[in-house]
Amino acid sequence: MSHHLPVVETFHSLQGEGMHAGRSAFFIRLAGCSVGCSWCDTKHSWPMESHPKQSVTTLAAEAAAAAQAGAAFVVITGGEPLHHNLDALTQSIRAACTLPVHIETSGVDPISGSPDWITLSPKRHQPPRAELLAACHELKVVVHEANDLLFADVAAAQAPQASWLVQPGWQSTEGQQLAIHYAQSHAHWRLSLQSHKWLQVR
Ligand code: SF4
Repeated sequence: MSHHLPVVETFHSLQGEGMHAGRSAFFIRLAGCSVGCSWCDTKHSWPMESHPKQSVTTLAAEAAAAAQAGAAFVVITGGEPLHHNLDALTQSIRAACTLPVHIETSGVDPISGSPDWITLSPKRHQPPRAELLAACHELKVVVHEANDLLFADVAAAQAPQASWLVQPGWQSTEGQQLAIHYAQSHAHWRLSLQSHKWLQVR
């Protein structure tokens, strides 16, 4: 259990993606990711050592301030946040405020931190653990090419409890066409867009 974690940034904005899109959220972006997606839009977050460590109590105090300013929940993202044990961080957040704690993960590490909401965004080249598929609340598959949809289907079969979303890769014309058609032709799937990027908000 770590009481100090490498932090890329914290900010209060709107959740741009997934089932909670459009809601006020406080983001904690932790450093460190070894998953290595070629299309990653947060490559600056990959090296842990490039980002200073902060105490979980400091982060929790920021979350409490965001709650006062209207945040509806906390999002722990990355990087790959579950490269770290999140027990101390979520305990501190819960001691400081009543905000639910969401985690955005690729699912390659064990669950820690007892999150209230798990967004699982699995990657074809490093498939997620079965425990994450079984526990996630939303399964959000990024689509660049047709094979991503085959992968989405296999993952969804292992996550029947989750909401299923296909999200086009940013600026991927093929991904947009495939995801739109998939959502239109599969009743249990919905389209997720990175609305914060379209609107150019953080
Ligand atoms: Fe980037 Fe997320 Fe892939 Fe890590 S898992 S490389 S942070 S998209």
